[in-house]
Amino acid sequence: MILEELDDAAGWLRTARRVAVFTGAGVSAESGIPTFRDGGGLWREFPPEEFASWRGLLSAAATSPGKLARFLLALLEPIATARPNSAHTAIAEIEKYTRVTIITQNVDGLHQEAGSREVLQIHGTLLEIVDSHGQPVRTLTRADLLEMVRRLHRAADRPAAALSLPWAIRPMAGLRPTGAYKPRIVLFGDAMAEPDWSAAMEAADECDCFLSVGTSGQVMPAAMLPSRARIAGAPVIEIGPEPCLGDIQLRGHAGSLLPQLVQAAFHQVD
Ligand code: NAD
Repeated sequence: MILEELDDAAGWLRTARRVAVFTGAGVSAESGIPTFRDGGGLWREFPPEEFASWRGLLSAAATSPGKLARFLLALLEPIATARPNSAHTAIAEIEKYTRVTIITQNVDGLHQEAGSREVLQIHGTLLEIVDSHGQPVRTLTRADLLEMVRRLHRAADRPAAALSLPWAIRPMAGLRPTGAYKPRIVLFGDAMAEPDWSAAMEAADECDCFLSVGTSGQVMPAAMLPSRARIAGAPVIEIGPEPCLGDIQLRGHAGSLLPQLVQAAFHQVD
């Protein structure tokens, strides 16, 4: 059964002249970065109403800095130590054979680290720090994140977390004489990251194969991209452990299924 589906999906991928690969948190799960919604995910301990908007985060900084420090640790520590997994690498390999646009909801920079060149970050990235006008301030490395994680551990353990938190996260967020700076990420209530979002809609409209990997389809407006591609005539292949609505579903983990798919599409000799 799965072999037949894999063959069909490989056929679509092999003949496509332009592929859009749409990724969510699941593609990075095997790099050790937990998804937010799955059991034990971040939203269970840190509700999105409080921790997924700038207003909520500012209010947490004022009222519960210790909890905010623990939230930032839970978010940043796995990203600081992550490396691309075999799913990211397989996606990067597709570029050898056809034009590929990656449309990612992730903020972890792992597609670029795996070698993908055309990456649209529709929810932004944690690694780029911008001022209040969206102008670049600095780019963070994983070593910078790791240093912040060390400082956050110290801040979270102190009774006066409110005093040490701003120092801990200074490379990422704070105030300078010209105004505030923060990571270029899209939180609840923000507009999608541009020009990436417009380019993502165009890629969904123009691709002839749409591959969706590790996304729950619950985050709007990103979740409308597969339907957009289907309306424009592209088959939708979905990879993930949950049942989904793709034309072809490959049920399982991206880290094992994507290398198999790329192998079947481009390396198998009949
Ligand atoms: P989501 O909506 O992208 O859902 C995650 C999906 O991944 C689920 O459907 C789950 O079944 C699936 N999944 C889990 N393990 C998988 C695996 N090994 N292979 C394939 N699929 C797998 O993400 P969310 O967790 O609800 O997050 C909400 C938002 O936060 C999204 O924008 C997401 O991109 C972002 N986020 C980003 C990161 C990151 O940058 N790595 C991590 C967590 C959340």
